[in-house]
Amino acid sequence: MPAKSAAKKKPAGLKPIRPPRTYKPLAPERIHDTLVRLDTRYPNATCALTHSSAWELLVATILSAQCTDARVNMVTPALFKRYPNPQAFAAATPQELEPQIQSTGFFRNKSKSIVGAAKKIVNDFGGRVPDTLAELITIPGAARKTANVVLGVWFNKAEGVVVDTHVHRISRRLELTKEDDAVKIEQDLMKVIPRERWIDFSHQIIHHGRQLCVARAPKCADCPLENVCHAADKTWSTVPMHLNAR
Ligand code: SF4
Repeated sequence: MPAKSAAKKKPAGLKPIRPPRTYKPLAPERIHDTLVRLDTRYPNATCALTHSSAWELLVATILSAQCTDARVNMVTPALFKRYPNPQAFAAATPQELEPQIQSTGFFRNKSKSIVGAAKKIVNDFGGRVPDTLAELITIPGAARKTANVVLGVWFNKAEGVVVDTHVHRISRRLELTKEDDAVKIEQDLMKVIPRERWIDFSHQIIHHGRQLCVARAPKCADCPLENVCHAADKTWSTVPMHLNAR
């Protein structure tokens, strides 16, 4: 436990309760407060995947599934040197790609997705990554999450909210959704988060999930959201913890 937490009064027990009927987790003032605190704690949060084009970002995002951004960033420089554009990837076979991306895990599927994505972009989009959600989700390996990353980070277009494992976990802890399906979570978030905040919100929550609100033993004593968060698995709490907030 960090030293600065020692002075705080620890509640008697950490037993989650049923939330009172009057509690409204989606109240606009609570959402606003949460967003302000995220802004203060993570003012410059952005995508950690190294890239210099929409295509490179698309490939890096495909590689980042079940893998850390740091690992992806170790693999992509050599990959993009060897295959400098979608045309070069489209001319390769998935088998050629596999050894170069092996360390990112699930490399057979990822190789197929990347070569398939390159072929689709070369054949159907003139070699350029499209900038609409409807087009992006037709690309192999690019579901809504990947499409939202490319749209938000490269094109600065908010067509949805990126829902990865961090956004999923923290949205549940903050009672912004009761869903477990990524598409449904995204729909819930799009209803309560103002559209102009969709891009930043995803980045901030992903940073929050890496730094403080980790999956096991979140660092609640150091969290700027502590007294607006009623998560059932908090490690420290000055407010009641709610049974379903997980
Ligand atoms: S108080 Fe704990 S569980 Fe809640 S958002 Fe912060 S780190 Fe996560």
